[in-house]
Amino acid sequence: MREKISDWGNYPVVQADVQHLRSPDQLSAMISQTPEMIARGLGRCYGDSALSSTIINTRTYGHFISFDEQRGIVRCQAGVSLEDILTVFVPRGWFLPVTPGTKFVTVGGAIASDVHGKSSGSFCDYVVSMCVMKANGEIVECSAAEESEFFETTRGGMGLTGIILEAAIQLIPVETAYIKEETVRCKDLDELMALFDNMGKWTYSVAWIDCVARGSKMGRSVMMRGEHAVQSDLCDTRHQRHPLEIKQMPKLNVPMMFPGFALNNWSVQAFNFAYYHHTPSGIHEHIVDYDTFFYPLDFVNNWNRIYGRRGFTQYQFLLPMSTSYEGLPVLLEKISACGLGSFLAVLKKFGKHNTFISFPYEGYFLALDFPVTKRCFAVLDELDKLVLKYGGRLYMAKDVRMKPEMFFKGYENAKIFCQRIQTWDPEGTFRSLQSKRLGMHDERNFK
Ligand SMILES: Cc1cc2nc3c(=O)[nH]c(=O)nc-3n(C[C@H](O)[C@H](O)[C@H](O)COP(=O)(O)OP(=O)(O)OC[C@H]3O[C@@H](n4cnc5c(N)ncnc54)[C@H](O)[C@@H]3O)c2cc1C
Repeated sequence: MREKISDWGNYPVVQADVQHLRSPDQLSAMISQTPEMIARGLGRCYGDSALSSTIINTRTYGHFISFDEQRGIVRCQAGVSLEDILTVFVPRGWFLPVTPGTKFVTVGGAIASDVHGKSSGSFCDYVVSMCVMKANGEIVECSAAEESEFFETTRGGMGLTGIILEAAIQLIPVETAYIKEETVRCKDLDELMALFDNMGKWTYSVAWIDCVARGSKMGRSVMMRGEHAVQSDLCDTRHQRHPLEIKQMPKLNVPMMFPGFALNNWSVQAFNFAYYHHTPSGIHEHIVDYDTFFYPLDFVNNWNRIYGRRGFTQYQFLLPMSTSYEGLPVLLEKISACGLGSFLAVLKKFGKHNTFISFPYEGYFLALDFPVTKRCFAVLDELDKLVLKYGGRLYMAKDVRMKPEMFFKGYENAKIFCQRIQTWDPEGTFRSLQSKRLGMHDERNFK
């Protein structure tokens, strides 16, 4: 069915033929008849990674297949969401080892983007095996031991190696559905980075930064760090009686697109000021349910509409450890000076990591939301130059505008990645608007 469709940033909006995945046989027939297609989960990537002239909606392929209770390994179809997994397995004492800032993503989307979260690993570290349909209709069962090259390229491969049908994922045991959280207010970037560098035992950490603050206040922030609570951490007797009960929280909804003028430098400045000062100084400990800790944005349905019809983009870059201390202040200064304003600016330190084409590796990354305006992309082109100068890269799952040069310079395996997808898919059946924009199918870029 042809429909108007966009990813989470509401930019760009395209007309596409949307087909629903029901079975491997139906998919193989579609692949043989369709010149160009891309898989789509819940469309929570921000830009154009899940857009093409034909879109295969995998959410309809969303059943659990098996669960190994001894080892905590769940096998499911790719359209199962992280919310589905948590709803079924938290009451049984299991949790996802890595989760992004929304649970409304599918297993297929989480693997294809190799999503990261507040812990120091990425989703694909916990993918035991998967089953993928290639462009010739063949179904490949792959893991670190079997078809390992195909496996490593599919992890973070943005749907360009094939369509993931099933995956087996390692879960971690938990005693409760709660997190022991500490918030720490930091007066500037030095204080915050020192805190990240001395995390000690904390499994989860992330910091909100006031990206409008300048001078001595640059990098003022609030760090949130957390740990799965054990039963003895729960003080409330109701929680103690039902430690694995999932809370149903009331949801707010943004009913329509906001007018463009609602977001401007003044409102961003006021929001950032209020958020920082609302957090008490010093260190504060709370027990919160996992939704509050991991998914605060999920409490507001359709919050992407506050950016209005023109949409928004998230600029997320990563700098290696060796350049982070020099590069982050320079980039933050540039961002606050450019006056684009971002309500959401999140800093995270990532641990040692080694994947073939995924975004995360050891270093610091910063994510900022910007409304799409005439100036926005020109400013982001300037930021790209700095990110490249400090040896960094951009996150494809959030991107809608980077140029091929940025991709090929930022990702050290970019050329090999493109050669591999060309070998497995010589006709270029799996293509997104993003893969075309980045020149991933153009031999001049990678031969
Ligand atoms: C509020 C919010 C917070 C977020 N926080 C984070 C975060 O903390 N960390 C992070 O890493 N990301 C984060 N993201 C981004 C999000 O996790 C990723 O974009 C994720 O890939 C979206 O999953 P999806 O199922 O919606 O996939 P889609 O957006 O539909 O697709 C994303 C990519 O996966 C491919 N794909 C989807 N399904 C399949 C399949 N079955 N087979 C092959 N390829 C497939 C698509 O082709 C596309 O390239 C956030 C997004 C939002 C909206």
